[in-house]
Amino acid sequence: MTDKKQLLSALPKIDECLADLSSATISLPSRLIKLAVRHCIDAERQRILNDDKSAILLTREQWNERFLEAIALKNQMNLRRVINGTGVVIHTNLGRSLLSPFMLDALQQAGGHYTNLEFNLSTGKRGSRYSLVEEIICDLTGAEAALVVNNNAAAVLLAIDTLASGKEVIVSRGQLVEIGGSFRIPEVIAKSGAQLIEVGATNRTHLADYEKMITDETALLLKVHTSNYRIIGFTSEVSVEDLAHLAHSHGLPVMEDLGSGCLVDLSRFGLPQEPTVQQIVKAGIDVVTFSGDKLLGGPQAGLIVGKKEIIDRIKRNPLNRALRIDKFTLASLEAVLRCYYDLDQALTSVPTLRMLTQHVELIKKRAKKLIRRIRPEIPPACSVSLRPTMSRVGGGAMPEHGLASWAVAFRPAQTSLSAMEQGLRKLSLPVIGRIEDESFLLDMRTVSDEEIPELADSLTTFWHRGMPS
Ligand SMILES: *Cc1c(COP(=O)(O)O)cnc(C)c1O
Repeated sequence: MTDKKQLLSALPKIDECLADLSSATISLPSRLIKLAVRHCIDAERQRILNDDKSAILLTREQWNERFLEAIALKNQMNLRRVINGTGVVIHTNLGRSLLSPFMLDALQQAGGHYTNLEFNLSTGKRGSRYSLVEEIICDLTGAEAALVVNNNAAAVLLAIDTLASGKEVIVSRGQLVEIGGSFRIPEVIAKSGAQLIEVGATNRTHLADYEKMITDETALLLKVHTSNYRIIGFTSEVSVEDLAHLAHSHGLPVMEDLGSGCLVDLSRFGLPQEPTVQQIVKAGIDVVTFSGDKLLGGPQAGLIVGKKEIIDRIKRNPLNRALRIDKFTLASLEAVLRCYYDLDQALTSVPTLRMLTQHVELIKKRAKKLIRRIRPEIPPACSVSLRPTMSRVGGGAMPEHGLASWAVAFRPAQTSLSAMEQGLRKLSLPVIGRIEDESFLLDMRTVSDEEIPELADSLTTFWHRGMPS
C-alpha cells in the first residue's frame, strides 16, 4: 500500500502540467487552465490528507484526463440551459416562465442598443421608465395606475411599507403563509415596519373578525393568496367585495397579494377557477400585487396595480428606487403584456400559457416522437414506454391540481433509477426528469417539439457513455 507521504510527494507540479496540456488547450485563457489544474491537485491533496480511500497513485494520462474535464467544466457557463422533463410548467428552480421569440427580440433590442429608457422622445426631456408599461398594464387590468418592481416579494414589501409603516395591518390567520424561499407574510410585515394584527382562525375568518380589530392604529386590510397550500373542509373566507366594502366604510385601503396574477380565466382548459387581476381590481381592492414570471408568463418582476392616489404614494417611497427594474425586464415585460391585447392569441404566444393549455393529444404525439427517435439507441436492458402522468402548474399556483399529460418512462434493468437521474443531470445539455413508480419519467408537456432532437441526442450520449447495458 502506498503511504500518505508517498502519495503527497507524487502530486504533480503545476508548471509541468501546464506545459503538458498546452497543445490541447491552446485557445483557452491560461488563467482559467491554471485555476482548473490547481483545483484538481488541491482536491487530490485534500483527499490524501483525509485518508480518503479514493486517493491513489495516478498516471500522467489519468491526471491529464482529470485536468481536461475540470478545464471543460470551468470553461462552460455556470447558468446553463437544461431540458425540463419534470412537467412542472412554472418551475422555480428551473427559471419559471420562458420568453417567446417576440419577447426575446425586445430583450435583444434593449440590450444591444441605446433606448428611450428614461428619455421622452416627444419632449426631448427626461422620461420615466415606468411610463413605458404603465398604460398597457392599466389597459389590461382596468386599474388607474401601475408600478413594476424587482419581484412580487418586493412589491408586497414596498406596498406595506408605504401604506402601513408604524401602523397596523390586519390579516386573516388563514393567510399568514410562507411562499418559499423564506418569504413569510408575518416577517415581511415586520420588515416593513408595520404591526401584524391577526384575526379569525386558521380555517375560518369572518367579516366581523376584521371589523372588531379596526382601530385608529389600523392602516391597511391585507388579503394574501395562499398560493401553495389549501385549507379544505370546514372553512370560510371573507369575499374581496365584502373586505373592500368594510375597509372603505372605515376610510382604509385594502390590498391583495395575488401571487400568480393571471390575466386570463384558465378554467375552460380544465384548470381551477382563479380570480383574474381584472376581477380583483373590479371588486374594489385598492392595491393588487402579482409576479411577472408566474402565470403572466414574462420576466421576473413584481407588478403593483391600483388606485392612482395610492400608487403615486408607492412611487414616491425611497425604497422604490432600490427595488426598480432594469431595461431587460422592462423590454420583455412590455412584450409579454402586448401579447394580452388579444387574449386568445396570448394562449399560444405566451409559452407558459401555451404549455398549460396544450391539448393532451399533442403531448402524447410528442412522447411518441421521442420514443421513435431513441428506439434504435436504447440498450436492451432498459425498457421504454409511453405513460400517462400528471403535470403541475408550479410557481405555487394551483398546488393540488394535476394536468393530464404523457411521459416517456424509462426502466433501466442494470442501473439504479437514481444513477440514471444523476447521469442525465450531468450531461452537457442536462436533462431533468422525475422518478415515479419505479421509473424515470420525462413529461412531454414541458419539452418543446424543437427540443426533441436535442433530447434524443442527450439520451443517446448518456447510453453510449454511462449506462451499463
Ligand atoms: C410567489 C408569491 C410571492 C413571491 O413572488 P416573487 O415574484 O417570487 O417574489 C408572494 N406572494 C404570493 C402569494 C406568491 O404566490
